[in-house]
Amino acid sequence: MSATRQAVFWSGSPMRTITILGATGSIGRNVADIVERHPDRFSVDAVASGNDVDTLASMAMRLNASFAAVADPQKGAALKDALSGSGIASGAGEGAVIEAASRQEADIVVGAIVGAAGLAPTLAAIRRGARVALANKECLVCAGSHFMAEAARCGAEILPVDSEHSAVFQALDGSPLERIREVVLTASGGPFRKWSADALERATLEDALNHPTWSMGAKVTIDSATLMNKGLELIEAHHLFALPPQKLGVVIQPQSIVHALVAYVDGSVVAQLGMPDMRAPIAYALGYPERIDTPVASLDLAALSKLEFEAPDRRRFPAIDIAMSAMEAGDSATAAFNAANEVAVAAFLTRRLRFVEIARIVGECTERHIASGAAAIGSLEDAMAVDRHARRVAGELVEQSGG
Ligand code: MG
Repeated sequence: MSATRQAVFWSGSPMRTITILGATGSIGRNVADIVERHPDRFSVDAVASGNDVDTLASMAMRLNASFAAVADPQKGAALKDALSGSGIASGAGEGAVIEAASRQEADIVVGAIVGAAGLAPTLAAIRRGARVALANKECLVCAGSHFMAEAARCGAEILPVDSEHSAVFQALDGSPLERIREVVLTASGGPFRKWSADALERATLEDALNHPTWSMGAKVTIDSATLMNKGLELIEAHHLFALPPQKLGVVIQPQSIVHALVAYVDGSVVAQLGMPDMRAPIAYALGYPERIDTPVASLDLAALSKLEFEAPDRRRFPAIDIAMSAMEAGDSATAAFNAANEVAVAAFLTRRLRFVEIARIVGECTERHIASGAAAIGSLEDAMAVDRHARRVAGELVEQSGG
């Protein structure tokens, strides 16, 4: 058995070339860390980011990339300047980011652009049949059926980078739907897990940014505090693993050690555990089906001594129910849900909205959309039209809330 595994998994392991979309963000920097630890295994073709030109240029040089793209069209000259003499080609604007995703050189494209800006570049990578290590939630939340259909049509592999979905992927092991009783994602519960409804009314931006277990970007940290992140992840799991809403669940696991559980029809439950460090799921997506070394700390259950689980409080944290109702209504409802959340979180991050108003606005936008009739999403244009409309509605609700 072990000899066979060795032969299958470790012989001749070819070099894999990687492109990182969203290179300067939290996921992108962790990808770079894994890549740099395995120069015998990975090289980098292209890096792309939103507007952080200095970090992008220094990453491009450090990773020996061939191409760097900055999404902000105003930053083209600055990027060129920063890369001058390096021999690294560069481009600016959304077209340049799509070009980075479309270059044939990369076997794996890491899709780690935050938000709807990640849709077109990730789809470009899918359409050329690349392996896509997907960290961008919006691809599946805004246009999941379309992305999965395109991946199947073009022979692209979508591997999850998110810790919960990586855990499901590992615990599911390709099992068909009829063998699965339930797939349960875990949530840390965020910084407000034990806060009363009254205290939540007064929660500040600083309180919300103080995540107990994970170190992440601001948007996803706020989404963890509202549990919107778990709502988005349920929708992602629905598409990634073709799971109906009734077979999806959430449990709070405050230590963030158990990342997901798959309950089978025979009563067995397979869980994936590990320290909360994004480099573990990243390494799994980049190396699959092999497992590669990472500096992720070993899990010491005896030292940890206890793992807690509790049901999410759906009254204080309505996000999961809103996400479930959007999922049941269909593609356009989840796109509207996501757009409303982006607008509400942006308003909260700039102190134009109170914490509890995020869920209220997302709930109201989603309800209005469902009431007006949810529809299938067959293209990026469809998704963007729903996105624009929901943003407008959410923007109006933010204005009316009066901060
Ligand atoms: Mg996650």
